[in-house]
Amino acid sequence: MFMGRGITVLNLMSSPGSGKTALIERTLADLPGDRRIGVIVGDLATENDARRIRDQGVHAIQISTGTACHLDAHMVHHALEELDLASIDLLFIENVGNLVCPASFDLGEEARVVIIAVTEGEDKPLKYPVIFHDADLVIVNKIDLAEAVAYSHEEVVANIRQVAPAAEVIELSALTGTGMDAWFRWLERSAAKGVRAPP
Ligand code: MG
Ligand code: ZN
Repeated sequence: MFMGRGITVLNLMSSPGSGKTALIERTLADLPGDRRIGVIVGDLATENDARRIRDQGVHAIQISTGTACHLDAHMVHHALEELDLASIDLLFIENVGNLVCPASFDLGEEARVVIIAVTEGEDKPLKYPVIFHDADLVIVNKIDLAEAVAYSHEEVVANIRQVAPAAEVIELSALTGTGMDAWFRWLERSAAKGVRAPP
């Protein structure tokens, strides 16, 4: 359905607190061009993240999963009933914060973006290889905190390469804006031609 409507859909996955919502907020504020963006966000409870997105004038649907620790296509389909698909060409789906089971659920996305923060430790890709294995892009967020936590760029990249040889890696800070330009270029490439061929 997304392909038929020409909507680029990205599934954003990370552990809680890595900065998924902050990345979306910064993207909405600074992405050049005139992309028409919609957002679906999943959490167990609260409308907090959808409210943050709506504060920027963008249509956001909150899925409250209750006890479920991931989104599935069924939940997304219901959320779409509240979204005017004719008015968007780029859809961010912010998954429930969890590096485990979201990897097992196809939400109809064109690309998977996995986000880790420098504060999480360099070995996360090795400990949670499944979610990284299917990532098209790995974003290392909070790069502004790199020095404070003795972050090793070389170690993280080597670990990502081990479990996800094909994934691109972008280091950025959604807070300060450092590195966001590389993410914007990746977004435009994905939206322009699609990173995955139709089935
Ligand atoms: Mg969030
Ligand atoms: Zn789950």
